[in-house]
Order: sequence, then structure tokens, then C-alpha cells
Amino acid sequence: MKVGIVGGGVFGLAAAWRLAVRGHAVSVLEADTIPAQKAASRDVSKALRAGYGACSATYAPAVGRARELWRELEAATGRSIYHETGCIQICSRFEPGGFEYDGYRELERLGWPVTWLEANEVERRFPAFAMDGLRGGAFDPNAGWVDPMEALPAFADAARAHGADIRERTPVEEVHALESDVRLVCAGAWLPRLVPDLGLAIRTTRQHEAMYRPAALGDLAALPAWSIDMATEGWYGFPPTADGLVKVARHVPDADDDPDGDRAPVADQAEAVRGFVEHHLPALTNAPDEGRSCFYTMSPDGSFLFDAVPGHEDLFAAGCGGGHAFKFGPMLGEWAADLVEGRPVPEAFRIRGKGRDRVV
Ligand SMILES: Cc1cc2nc3c(=O)[nH]c(=O)nc-3n(C[C@H](O)[C@H](O)[C@H](O)COP(=O)(O)OP(=O)(O)OC[C@H]3O[C@@H](n4cnc5c(N)ncnc54)[C@H](O)[C@@H]3O)c2cc1C
Repeated sequence: MKVGIVGGGVFGLAAAWRLAVRGHAVSVLEADTIPAQKAASRDVSKALRAGYGACSATYAPAVGRARELWRELEAATGRSIYHETGCIQICSRFEPGGFEYDGYRELERLGWPVTWLEANEVERRFPAFAMDGLRGGAFDPNAGWVDPMEALPAFADAARAHGADIRERTPVEEVHALESDVRLVCAGAWLPRLVPDLGLAIRTTRQHEAMYRPAALGDLAALPAWSIDMATEGWYGFPPTADGLVKVARHVPDADDDPDGDRAPVADQAEAVRGFVEHHLPALTNAPDEGRSCFYTMSPDGSFLFDAVPGHEDLFAAGCGGGHAFKFGPMLGEWAADLVEGRPVPEAFRIRGKGRDRVV
């Protein structure tokens, strides 16, 4: 089958790899170079965590499978993509109904090797944290972070090795004009513009990220991937990059906005991060920082989109990765390939599947 894919972010490229492996004639049309400057997929790090609060039983097995498939992609391409530093989900209250508590209990039930650490134990193992007012954290050793600047070219290389034609600087104006048997639109925040008849209320929300450059790493070098009060305050961050940058970001949206608008950091958000690090990551307090705004593409409940476009049997859309899709990378490709081949995509991973609680 000839499959034309619009968009070379993680959804489009992972789909290209899987469809090419399955023997389809795949072409990807990307408006920019890969990774695109404005793509949500472009970044220095993306967290891979199995703790999904009350939704962990749904998401953790897929995270586990993605973790194996990232290793397969590394083996196929020789690139270093997934860094298993562990991930700690810290919270101020550890009680039923809380994101961290529910996630911890669900993971325990699934046999995931998660450990609860009281505040003093967190500070002992990860001395960069000041746990003032925080109760403790659930530490998952089978987690860490994915390097998107390696992952995206890896998907592209692996897809090309199976015959895919990946064209950069090729913006698509009209999806129906693509010469292929089947079209799959993976245009991220630009999806509603290209496919206005999706029948879904998709939001694009501006999110803040700060990059700190401390003079010396010291205790920061031992940081795992982490979050603090993820569902309410939304703080999260990463171990230092190879060139000494420490990323601290916020999962709570700043505002709905246009992804083609200004990407400069919002002053209030930058100030909020500075206040946060002073309190909980004091080694970053006087380090120079640079902020930026990036954009989540959100379905109404935070679930992904894998669906046919209503009224068009040869036109499909995949996306709405919000702030949590990247970790599933190779699984996104499996689901997208199943979608265009007419196989069922697990209902739990589709916004049009059965309803459930909001995903954090
Ligand atoms: C700030 C931020 C932090 C995140 N952190 C995490 C994390 O820690 N862990 C995690 O698992 N996930 C995380 N995510 C979520 C994840 O990164 C996104 O869900 C995912 O990258 C979205 O991928 P995409 O392919 O849908 O969109 P994009 O990456 O935006 O790709 C869409 C592509 O389509 C192209 N395009 C658009 N229009 C056209 C056109 N007309 N013609 C051709 N090409 C076009 C664009 O140039 C772009 O390259 C984060 C997201 C953001 C924004």
C-alpha cells in the first residue's frame, strides 16, 4: 500500500518506521528540517515514566513495551536514545486519590519495581533536592529519559533503511492532494488546520521550560528524571545533559495560544520557576537560565488521537500527544500502522475509545 504521511515529528516518523518495516511504500512530507524548529518533539529530553496515577494499569504495560522497543531502535541505528536514570515522582501528600499515591499502588500491584522513599531518604539518595514541605517520592528504576534529538533521526534512518522516502522542507497545503492510497496526518499542533473536519475540540497550550547552566554540577549530577506534585503543581525535570544543562519545566499549562506565535518565555512563568528552584533545587538558584515556551496539543481528556477522519475512509489522523506521548515513540508507530492497515488500535489509547479520567 502507498502511505503518505504528513509531519516528521515523533508520531509521523515512528509510523513511517513501522509501516516501512511492514512492507508499505511510505513517504513522509515534513514542512521543516527534522527535527522541526517548532515541533513539540524537538527538545533535549523527554521523560519515560510508568507512574500514571490511577491510569497506570492502562499506560504502564505500554511504557514497558516502548522501553524494549527503544532499545531495538538503538540496536538498529547505533544511536544512544534512552537513558535509564530512574524517575522519582515526589509529592507533598501521599494519600488515596493523589496522583503519586495511586500510581505507586497501581505499579506495585502490577509488579513494577517501584519503591517509596520518605523525604529524608530522597535527600540522602538525591542530595540536590531540598524536600522542605514534601512528603517523599515513588522511585521507579525502570524509567528515565529519551533523547529526542537522537530518537527522531533514528526513526528516519530506520524508516529509510526499509525504503521510506522522507522529504524535508516540503509543506503540505492540501492533504487530499497527496498521491497515495492512504493518507496519515501527524501534523502535531497544526493538525486542526490541515484537517478541520476532525470533529474534536483540540487545544494548543503554551508550556514553560527553563534551561539552567550551573557553574558546577555537584549534587545535580546524580539527579534522576523527576516530578513534584505532577497533577497539581506540575513541576518536572531531568538529569543534566552531556553539556551541563539542567532542564526544569512545568506541566501545568500557562494559556491556550497559537503555536506559530511568539516562543519567548513568559516573564511570570520564568519567575515561578526561579522561586521553585530556590525552594527545592537550591544548587540552581543563581545559575544563569534561559526559558522558552513550547506547545502541547491536547485532546479533551489528554488521550491520544488515532482515528479515521469522519467521512474519509482513506484519511487518518494521529496525534494529540499532550505532554506525555514521546516516551511511547515506537508504540505510537505500531498503533498508527495498525490504524491505517484497518486493524484495531487499543481503545484505551484513543480519544474516541471509551471515556475515562483525565490523563496527567
Ligand atoms: C514542552 C513539552 C514537553 C514534553 N515533555 C514530554 C515528556 O517529558 N515525556 C513525554 O513522553 N512526552 C512529552 N511531551 C509530549 C511529546 O513531546 C509530544 O506529544 C509529541 O512530541 C508530539 O509529536 P507530534 O508528532 O504529534 O507533533 P510534532 O512533534 O509537533 O510534529 C508535527 C510535525 O508536523 C510538521 N507539520 C505541520 N504542518 C505541516 C504541513 N502542513 N506539512 C508538512 N509538515 C507539517 C511540523 O513541522 C512538525 O515537524 C512534551 C511536549 C512538549 C511540548
